[in-house]
Amino acid sequence: MNIHEFQAKEIFSRYGIPVPRGIVVSTPAEAKAATKEMGGQSVVKAQIHAGGRGKSGGVQLTRSPEEAEVAAQRMLGSNLVTPQTGPEGAPVDKLLIEELADIKNELYVALTIDRGHRGPVMLVSTQGGMDIEEVAANDPQDIYTEPVDPLMGLMPFQTRRLVRKLGLDQAVASDAAKVLNALYRVFVDNDCSLVEINPLIITGDDRVVALDAKINLDDDSMFRHADLKEYRDISQENALEAQAADLNIAYVNLDGDVGCLVNGAGLAMATLDVTTAAGAAPANFLDVGGGATPEKVSSAVKIILSDPKVRRVLVNIFGGILRCDIAGEGIVLAYNETGSKIPLVVRMLGTNVVEGKKILGDSGLSVVFADTLTEAAEAIQQIKV
Ligand code: GDP
Ligand code: MN
Repeated sequence: MNIHEFQAKEIFSRYGIPVPRGIVVSTPAEAKAATKEMGGQSVVKAQIHAGGRGKSGGVQLTRSPEEAEVAAQRMLGSNLVTPQTGPEGAPVDKLLIEELADIKNELYVALTIDRGHRGPVMLVSTQGGMDIEEVAANDPQDIYTEPVDPLMGLMPFQTRRLVRKLGLDQAVASDAAKVLNALYRVFVDNDCSLVEINPLIITGDDRVVALDAKINLDDDSMFRHADLKEYRDISQENALEAQAADLNIAYVNLDGDVGCLVNGAGLAMATLDVTTAAGAAPANFLDVGGGATPEKVSSAVKIILSDPKVRRVLVNIFGGILRCDIAGEGIVLAYNETGSKIPLVVRMLGTNVVEGKKILGDSGLSVVFADTLTEAAEAIQQIKV
């Protein structure tokens, strides 16, 4: 789960990581008042679940309350497109109004899970404020990686090494070390998959401040973080993905036009691979799960059909715990309720396959049956859309 910058900064504050003074607003008048509160100058920051705002007009330094009001007018209600949002952008309905910082030095600090190391790694770079992907591509030697033993935690010698890699002088070294240690506690306590500060700044008067904050929470740990669940902002999520999550259907929206209905995550992955190999492009990953009812299958199909990109639907069901007749009923239910005419290719095997195919065959829908996944993918590829 992704959360907003202002929420991540709330968490940082609880752990003693210094952040700029700030006020969250949702109207231009509030932005103006908040800027007055900050002494007449501020940074106006669009709150979306993506970075790259600085380059895309989502972060503006303002020199007067009126200027902040105008900036807020421009941003609020808009759809901000940044290099990280994709072309559809993300809606801006909240702004963080912060006091202006006096930046002497911009650093990069992050913690994430490294699969190779099988544990957390802390990443630091003196090239903060930049696109870290660009630094990784052009100056990889400028990013230092410290693997952390999850049982030992971040050890003092590691913190000292990281501070040294950041090239910090004596005046700020101990404060920077405190921030790194606190960041590690944020990461572990909250079951984060990513914590990133870009930039972590050194101010003109030698304070260490998190100017930006990004936190990704591990969805599978949300059951033990009731308080963090409150941070969810559905308006920032893909609408279909949010709907699927509420129905407990594993669904990821993709770019193609082939809607895919599959039971089992592994089978769904294989279906995407074989479909792509046949020259067609999947519109989604969808695992409807094992114990699905006709209603749940129908909900899954409706999610697929309500994606405007979808022109054809590939069904790949291996009937076991989910029987083929239940799947067939669910598909017909969804098509009848939506009145959709989108053609189907169906590959079904396993429990009650004869009944399942009969339900679909008698339904009057445009269905092509295939025996193998390869044949199904080829049949889908041949449907002219
Ligand atoms: P992002 O582009 O979405 O990652 O948003 P950031 O919060 O990182 O802001 C982008 C850039 O705006 C930062 O790297 C800073 O260079 C600049 N910026 C943000 N706040 C301030 C501020 O208070 N003072 C100054 N001078 N620059 C700021
Ligand atoms: Mn940033």
